[in-house]
Amino acid sequence: MPSRAPLAIVWDPAFLDYDFGPNHPFQESSRGLAVDLFEATVPSGSAGALAWQRSVAPAGRSVLERFHRPDYLDFVDASCRANRPPALDGGDTPAFAGGFDAAARLVAGTVDALAAIADGRARRAFQPGGGLHHAHPERASGFCIFNDLAVAIAGAVGAGRPFARAAYLDIDAHHGDGVMYGFYEDGRLLDIDFHQDGRTLFPGTGGVEETGRGDGAGLKVNVPMPPGAGDETLVPTFRRLVPPLLRDFRPELIVLQHGMDGHAGDRLAGLRYGPQGYASVLRQTIELADEVCDGRLLVTGGGGYRAESVALGLARAGHQLAGRGSPSGPLPIAWRERFATVTGEAAPARWAEPVTAGPSEAGAAVSGMLVEALEAALGRRFPPDGAR
Ligand SMILES: [Zn+2]
Repeated sequence: MPSRAPLAIVWDPAFLDYDFGPNHPFQESSRGLAVDLFEATVPSGSAGALAWQRSVAPAGRSVLERFHRPDYLDFVDASCRANRPPALDGGDTPAFAGGFDAAARLVAGTVDALAAIADGRARRAFQPGGGLHHAHPERASGFCIFNDLAVAIAGAVGAGRPFARAAYLDIDAHHGDGVMYGFYEDGRLLDIDFHQDGRTLFPGTGGVEETGRGDGAGLKVNVPMPPGAGDETLVPTFRRLVPPLLRDFRPELIVLQHGMDGHAGDRLAGLRYGPQGYASVLRQTIELADEVCDGRLLVTGGGGYRAESVALGLARAGHQLAGRGSPSGPLPIAWRERFATVTGEAAPARWAEPVTAGPSEAGAAVSGMLVEALEAALGRRFPPDGAR
């Protein structure tokens, strides 16, 4: 077997062309700042351990059609060429000149990252620019024109494809509706989605009772977190639910949508996750991938509407995926200047952020209620924390 790089990273500066304008909440530039920070702080000695792909051609129609309907592709193409590009959905996701290719390039980035794993060139792959989990086969939604995750999964999982079964984990603050409904009746994808309760946040879906249908019955697992929930709820709930589900399903690949909009202080969502919670969830995911599928793990970015959280959080995820410890200390001055220029905001000075809450009685109580609700919905038991 050829030796595999521990981590493939896909980032083309042209990903920044996915740009709805300066006043739109979604700014791909925050992901660019994450990549810059990762690159500025990863020691040069580890360069051999990283396989960078820095140029990505937009996905062609045949690739996009693995998930999207041809008439929708026509609609996006025509809308992005219009003299006055219209909204592609109710208004959140505007068309823009070059938008078709920009969105198709993000899709290709995720497809290529997954191919690096499937071909055996890398053990893990990271596509910080991807994670557009709201797009549906026939419509744009929630800042997502094309669904890079769903296209990549549709091309890699199933008969005649590299993987027979995959698990999709989603920790974005919003429910990953495009992926979940896209594979709702598909028995080849276990979908576990932690998100802010849909009664309090877009897109409104992802209740515990949505558990899949047909071949997919029991394989769609929704964990609606109450507004204000933080690491003290996320970490124990993840630890209790995810390991038994993955061990039972035995995926050959894990895909993690690592949205950063659950971070405390996000401008659109109302959760309170912190650096320790994200680090814990990613560490558990890496360990589970090592245990159940020979380490095969694709991680994408996702939402995130506070530049500092996105930049530091995704850079930190890169360090973890590269097999390095959590970075600490002051941030590079050149990077801080770049952050201030790009965002117009004061740059953070250090990696360390305020310590968020550890385990708490309230967190354990909420976690216990979520697990009970899922036990009822799925008709199974989840052993107490730590038990096998
Ligand atoms: Zn989101």
